[in-house]
Amino acid sequence: MKAIVKKEPGKGFVLEEVEIPEIKEPTDVKVKVINASICGTDLHIWKWDDWSKQRIKTPQIDGHEFVGEVVEVGPMVKGLKPGDIVAAETHIPCGVCKQCKTGNMHVCKDMQILGVDRDGVFAEYVVVPEIVLWKLDPSIPKEFASVMEPLGNAIHSATATDLRGKTVLITGAGPIGAVAVQVAKVSGASTVIVSEVSEYRINMAKEMGADYIINPTEKDLVEEIMKLTDGNGVDVLLEMSGNPNALNSGIESLTNAGEAVILGVFPTNPVPFVMNTAVFKGIKIHCITGRKMFETWQIASEWLRTKRIDLSKLITHILPMEEYEKGFELMDSKQSGKIVLKISE
Ligand code: NAD
Ligand code: ZN
Repeated sequence: MKAIVKKEPGKGFVLEEVEIPEIKEPTDVKVKVINASICGTDLHIWKWDDWSKQRIKTPQIDGHEFVGEVVEVGPMVKGLKPGDIVAAETHIPCGVCKQCKTGNMHVCKDMQILGVDRDGVFAEYVVVPEIVLWKLDPSIPKEFASVMEPLGNAIHSATATDLRGKTVLITGAGPIGAVAVQVAKVSGASTVIVSEVSEYRINMAKEMGADYIINPTEKDLVEEIMKLTDGNGVDVLLEMSGNPNALNSGIESLTNAGEAVILGVFPTNPVPFVMNTAVFKGIKIHCITGRKMFETWQIASEWLRTKRIDLSKLITHILPMEEYEKGFELMDSKQSGKIVLKISE
């Protein structure tokens, strides 16, 4: 089969012929990949940054966001059969640790990540355990389905608190922040304000329905927010940039007793943080990893099936697998929304 492989340490990938993976465990499922989308994590691996150097073992097939058709199931697979169309949770839980047993599988202590800790989905076939597969309603377009995983990040964040009638600030309108605009509105937010620095993504946030967009390199974010909210500040911050300045001005923009939901991953740890502001305002902070298994997937499916969420403006490029290099360069330039690679028909 054809696969996009990290052959050896260094920048880039190689498209080459590799062996089709076989079912090993009785609960394994073999899936023919139809579409796969490019995520920020894939970009890190493509660039071969410090994180990738420590985490990725070569050779390995990259990619984790996908939709495909089940072609073979292991003898203990109960809920799927060949022909079923599936998307997948990319955090593969162990199923037996304390977190898995107590409703917190998304932060499994022994979690494996598809395309990071094991071969991924930028290939014609992938084998994954049944537990992570999510059977799709046939009405969900296959172009949208590979993006359900990052949509799930936005849903997990926006459902961490009650957004009904709330004024929400989203810092960072990358693919996740941009779709979070729609998710916040469907969740009942009255006003959605976005802060973003890239012109391309400012336009994307507009298309996704943001009520106000502020570029913090042109205007003081906190001042503008106070003007828009009668001097009160926003009720909820959804931090989706991974930029420490955005995080801190987001906290400064919150109303007293407001809530901050942090999904962004920051370049350094520890992160400089306006802790005293958060303390004196009495702010509640929610930190978000991945998607809730599988409540988030249920919500994502229903909102796509009933067209409450429309991903057509978020997916800006659909490319054949062979043009993966162009896809990564586009992602790197930030002149794109979500990029989908067509792997097979
Ligand atoms: P992205 O990098 O494509 O988007 C981030 C956006 O923030 C960009 O459009 C960028 O222009 C903007 N930005 C940068 N500095 C800013 C500033 N000072 N103010 C406002 N906007 C600013 O990322 P994405 O794929 O949309 O993901 C969003 C964030 O969530 C990233 O930090 C990513 O690492 C993180 N993430 C976390 C999880 C998790 O499980 N916690 C999962 C996926 C992604
Ligand atoms: Zn576990």
